[in-house]
Amino acid sequence: MLLDKINIKEVKGITPRKVKDLEALGVVTVEDFFQYYPFRYEDYRIQDLSEISDGDKVTLLGRIYSEPHVHRMGRTKSKLTCIVLVDNMLVTALWFNRHFLKDKLKLGQEIILTGKWEQSRKQMIVSESEFSGMAGKQSGELQPVYSLSGPVTQKWLRKSMVQALGQFGHLIQENLPEELVGKNNLMPRKQAILAIHHPASQEEGSIARQRIVYEELFMFQLKIQAYKAISHDRTEGIAHLIDSSAIREFAASLPFQLTASQKQVISEVIRDMREPHCMNRLLQGDVGSGKTVVAAAALFAAVKAGYQGALMVPTEILAEQHLKSFQGLFAPHGIRVGLLTGSFTKSQRKEILAFLLSGELNILVGTHALIQEGVYFRNLGLVVTDEQHRFGVNQRSVLRHKGLFPDILTMTATPIPRTLAITAFGDMDVSTLGEMPKGRIPIKTYSVKHDLFERVLKFIQKEIEQGRQAYVICPLIEESEKLDVQNTIDLHAQLQQYFTNYNVGLLHGRLAVREKEETMRRFSGNLIQVLVSTTVVEVGVDVPNATIMVIYDAERFGLSQLHQLRGRVGRGQHPSYCVLIANAKSEISRERMKVMAQTNDGFEIARRDLELRGPGDFFGTKQSGLPNFRAADLIADY
Ligand code: ADP
Ligand code: MG
Repeated sequence: MLLDKINIKEVKGITPRKVKDLEALGVVTVEDFFQYYPFRYEDYRIQDLSEISDGDKVTLLGRIYSEPHVHRMGRTKSKLTCIVLVDNMLVTALWFNRHFLKDKLKLGQEIILTGKWEQSRKQMIVSESEFSGMAGKQSGELQPVYSLSGPVTQKWLRKSMVQALGQFGHLIQENLPEELVGKNNLMPRKQAILAIHHPASQEEGSIARQRIVYEELFMFQLKIQAYKAISHDRTEGIAHLIDSSAIREFAASLPFQLTASQKQVISEVIRDMREPHCMNRLLQGDVGSGKTVVAAAALFAAVKAGYQGALMVPTEILAEQHLKSFQGLFAPHGIRVGLLTGSFTKSQRKEILAFLLSGELNILVGTHALIQEGVYFRNLGLVVTDEQHRFGVNQRSVLRHKGLFPDILTMTATPIPRTLAITAFGDMDVSTLGEMPKGRIPIKTYSVKHDLFERVLKFIQKEIEQGRQAYVICPLIEESEKLDVQNTIDLHAQLQQYFTNYNVGLLHGRLAVREKEETMRRFSGNLIQVLVSTTVVEVGVDVPNATIMVIYDAERFGLSQLHQLRGRVGRGQHPSYCVLIANAKSEISRERMKVMAQTNDGFEIARRDLELRGPGDFFGTKQSGLPNFRAADLIADY
């Protein structure tokens, strides 16, 4: 019988109500239950009085020596005490608010006590107690600690796990080839599952865990590779007919020379597009490495092959910006580019959708709205998503259901180590832009305290006088009673008074779309010299003339986010600066400021960020698409 066919209700003592509770924890079958691994162990091994010291959490075995005594303190509080003989010494056991235990404590009975030891009084403040010889006893051993929610208690889960392992443990089968188990010196599966729940020692627990982590990552890779093999075999994708000389002409029409890295990545993408299966490629490249032009080349190729292309970006500001730069790039080639965002009026939307359906429009740029609500392409051949928008399996199937099998290129500016990328985004092929366009001057980064703000302003003034522009980022839009951090509205007012001869703009997510666009347009055209903004400019915004990025209350942002923000400058031929204004109190914030000042390398920063935050926080939960491992930890088990 296979354990994943046995419902958890077959385990003795698991009532229908508990079946429900376990279901909420994702446990339906006995197999699931066995794979509900503990994340650490608590030591309940019985200790000798001679080896414990004051303040320790200890477990002792003794015999009840005196009648228990209850001392009431008000209506709800109580103290229960009892003398216990341990190793020929009398100690006091003290329970708070457990008066109801009184009747259970019988003279002469053996008892196991766990709690905090107070040496001078020879007393234990008991947190858990059990009579030895009791069924399902939990004391006297290393006990597993499971992560729990809902009504399931640690004690109950431990007891039920022991029961389940006793009842069904003999059915656990090896699932890795003998050769791998031998070569990697792995614990056999049955032994490992028994031991991870109830190890004889911490060492045994970690050897068991190692085997289980190996198995989990191995199975994950198998699944991913199988999935990849299957989708590569599918031929329902589009085999774009792409003329290499057309791509070369396009490259020649650019205002700059492509980097070797860009050329390499473009050829990887074109190769995929020519294949008859759907491309699913991740392009990772540091901020400013020039991903947009790679997207443009791919879109150009799709259009030349007779298809339409789409570029999906996270914000309307970005969509607007890409529209403009694409119009510039593509107009000479007779390619028409349109825009669609969520804030279009009905008639604007209708018009653009009609162009799209008729095929008059070759490339559509937009926000998420672009793929979802009743948008119909005439013949969509390529979808590019820019910055942080990972196209999950779900969205790909939405496209399929529309009868579309476009190639998909996903671009991200949060580079992650290659091995991790393969795990996290295992179903994608990964291309990396590992080189910056030539002539970039490294951004100088400084971390300063708030009292130097005046000097920062003088510095901005100097740069503006030379024709440059600055961003000033704040965590909040407006003043908050709860948080003592800078907000855009106050700072905007303040800077308007300071820079009387210049224009200071304001940008945040609550402004109307038209206002945002107008402000961005004016900043792009240097009609605004200082832009006070929230992190809405974080992704993608490209104004090469801006050379100063000031980030107020920088300790409130994560490393990768700071790097993204910093990446808004250093995009042109002028030297650029990033100033982090922070009162870094915690160790982590100080560490972040240090990393930022030390390196401009996005890969390095992502690595440090991962270390500081752990993969869960790093990727975020919703959009990560990261698999949820039961035992494996992508960093610790790297
Ligand atoms: P990101 O990878 O952050 O999206 P962009 O595509 O916005 O970067 O490019 C950053 C800037 O670099 C843009 O102003 C772009 O025009 C410019 N750029 C891109 N490729 C090159 C190149 N090969 N040589 C010079 N400048 C380039
Ligand atoms: Mg970009």
